[in-house]
Amino acid sequence: KPVIVAIDGPSGTGKSSTSKAVAAQLGLSYLDTGAQYRAITWWMVDNGIDLADPVAIADVAGKPEIISGTDPSAPTITVDGVDVAGPIRTQEVTSKVSAVSAVPEVRARITELQRTLATGAEKGIVVEGRDIGTTVLPDADLKIFLTASAEARAARRSGELKGADVQATREALIKRDAADSSRKTSPLAKAGDAVEVDTTELTLAQVIECVVTLVEE
Ligand code: C5P
Repeated sequence: KPVIVAIDGPSGTGKSSTSKAVAAQLGLSYLDTGAQYRAITWWMVDNGIDLADPVAIADVAGKPEIISGTDPSAPTITVDGVDVAGPIRTQEVTSKVSAVSAVPEVRARITELQRTLATGAEKGIVVEGRDIGTTVLPDADLKIFLTASAEARAARRSGELKGADVQATREALIKRDAADSSRKTSPLAKAGDAVEVDTTELTLAQVIECVVTLVEE
């Protein structure tokens, strides 16, 4: 029976690195749901949609075709056939994604894509996001909720962005997590039956080992 693993948590907790490595080690597919929300946000910006207007966002939520490649060694993301792996990581998209992903029509659309990919994964899948264990895949075989101190999360994110200001990164990250946690539809939250793993004092290798052990149990 295919195994479904949900990995949720705020930004900078190591969700992506952990999820990819766990999927690769166990021969499972991998889905980065944040990339899907970033992709639809990129499309809205590219098409000049007024992101201060949730009705305008809702009106076009069904338009872009978003396709995720779920091989953990080479995940891909395209919008209407365009490879957007690079453009979805810009500051502009990062600062706007919370507003777009708060719109219920956007969430309904993306959630449907996620469920289709998860149920279609032959050997199983590791799905990472904010609401996977609570909303998207409430029957997942294993739910993990990753946490880390705000300092650790900002430091990791600034490291990734090569030399970005830690203080500015910390503030942007806290702001985005607050928006993601307070939206009305499927906010960032720990499922009641999720295992919480605090990664503050752990190396990436330790977190990966911990999750692999939990899957194999
Ligand atoms: O994981 P990542 O930081 O790339 O996610 C980008 C944004 O996408 C989050 O800040 C959040 O607004 C949104 N998101 C979401 N639900 C998910 C995954 C991501 O709302 N399951």
